[in-house]
Amino acid sequence: MRYLIVGGGVAGTTAAEELRKRDASAEVTILSEEHHPLYSRVLLPHYMKGKVPRERVFLKRDAWYADQNIELVTGVLATHLDGRNKFVAGSDGREYPYDKLLIATGGEVRSLDEDLRGVSYFRTLDDADQFLQLVTEQGNRARGVVYGGGFIACEYINLFQHFGIPTTVIHRGSHFWTRSLLSEAGELIAKTLNTGGVELHENTSLQSLTGDSELQGIVTSAGEYSATILGVGIGIEPDLSWLRDAGVEVGTGVKASAFLETNVPDVFTAGDIAEFDDPITGRQLQIGNWMNAMSQGRTVTKSMIGERTSFQLVSSYATNVLGLEIIFVGDVERAAAEQIQVIGSVADGGITQVFERGGRIVGGVLIGRNTDRAPITKAIQEKQSFSSLNLL
Ligand SMILES: Cc1cc2nc3c(=O)[nH]c(=O)nc-3n(C[C@H](O)[C@H](O)[C@H](O)COP(=O)(O)OP(=O)(O)OC[C@H]3O[C@@H](n4cnc5c(N)ncnc54)[C@H](O)[C@@H]3O)c2cc1C
Repeated sequence: MRYLIVGGGVAGTTAAEELRKRDASAEVTILSEEHHPLYSRVLLPHYMKGKVPRERVFLKRDAWYADQNIELVTGVLATHLDGRNKFVAGSDGREYPYDKLLIATGGEVRSLDEDLRGVSYFRTLDDADQFLQLVTEQGNRARGVVYGGGFIACEYINLFQHFGIPTTVIHRGSHFWTRSLLSEAGELIAKTLNTGGVELHENTSLQSLTGDSELQGIVTSAGEYSATILGVGIGIEPDLSWLRDAGVEVGTGVKASAFLETNVPDVFTAGDIAEFDDPITGRQLQIGNWMNAMSQGRTVTKSMIGERTSFQLVSSYATNVLGLEIIFVGDVERAAAEQIQVIGSVADGGITQVFERGGRIVGGVLIGRNTDRAPITKAIQEKQSFSSLNLL
C-alpha cells in the first residue's frame, strides 16, 4: 500500500506515524513545502521570547523519519492532483503515485499586495527567524504596527511588548474577533490593550506602505503612522486551486465528511485545511488549532486503512494578550448561533460567551475566565442546554 501525505505539519506527520504503526510494510511519503522536519508552531512565540531554545521547537529529527521508514520530501510543493490515475505532481517535476492520499496542507497567510523589508508574517519557523532578525537589526529605532484583530495579532502584540517596542494596532473590525465576539467582550480586550500602552485604532484599514526598500510607515483610513516592523495577521487563505482543478470539493478549506473523506475516492483530509462535518455540533467546521490537527491526523488514518471512524472532539485554543487569557472552545461562529449568553462584564475583568443552537451549547469564548473551560467543554460534549450549565 502506498500512502502519500501532502503537508508535513502536525496533521500530516501524526498521520504518517500512525500509518507506520498500523502497517509496517506500507510505503509512506510526506511531501512538504517547508524545509524543516516537524516543529511546533505553538512554541514559536516562546522561542522568539528566548524562553525555549530553537532546537526544542523541533518535534522530530531527520533521523526519526529514517528510523520510521517514512520518506520526507522537503522543499516541494504539490501542484497537481490526478485522482483518476492516482498521482500528485510536485514542483520538482516528479510524479508521486498513491493508493491513498491525505491532504494536510494547513493554511497560507493572507498577504499584502505590497512588500518592503520590515513587513512580517507569522506562520513558520522561517517567519519567526526573520522577525528576530528585524528586531536585532533595528534595536531602539523599532516601531511596531500590528495589522489584524485575531490570534496572530495577539502574538505580535505580546512580542512587541516583550521587546519593549512601541506598538500600534489597527484593524478593520469594530473590535477583535468580530465573527465570534460581542462588543462587550471586544471592549474588554480593547481596555486591556489601552491599559498596556498599546495605541489601538479600530474600524481602520491599511491603504499603503511608505519607505523605499525598508518600511518607514503605513497609510491607513485613519491617518499615517510610523512603522519599522509591520506584523500582518489578517487570516489564512490556503491555495486550493490545484485541488479544485482535480474535482475536489472545496469551500474555505477542503470539504470532508465526518470520516474526513473528500468527495474524490481515496483522498482524505485533516488539520487546518479540513472543512469537515462535525457530528458534535451538527455543522461543517474548519478549525485552526493544534489539538484538532493532531487528533484529525490520528483519526483519519483509521479511515485511510479501512476502519472508517468519525472524528469527534471538542477542541479548544487558548491564548493571551498582555496577560489576559482568551480561550475558544467548540463552534464560536456568531452567525451560526441561535443565542449567545453572556456571563461577567468588563467591570468584572472577565466575560464568557456561551453559544447555543437547537437548545444546546455548541461553543464558548472565555476571556479572563479560564475556569469555565472544563464545564463548557463537557456541556458541548454532552449536548447540554444553557440552563443546566453551572458557571460561577
Ligand atoms: C504562531 C502560531 C502560534 C500558534 N499557537 C497555537 C496555540 O497556542 N495553540 C493552538 O492550539 N494552536 C496554535 N496555532 C495553530 C496551530 O499551530 C495549527 O492549527 C496547526 O499547526 C495546524 O497544523 P496542520 O498540520 O493542519 O497545518 P500546518 O501546520 O500549516 O502544516 C501544513 C504544511 O503543509 C505545507 N503545504 C501547504 N501546501 C502545500 C503543498 N501544496 N505541497 C506541499 N506542502 C504544502 C505547509 O507549508 C505546511 O508546512 C498557532 C499557529 C501559529 C502560526
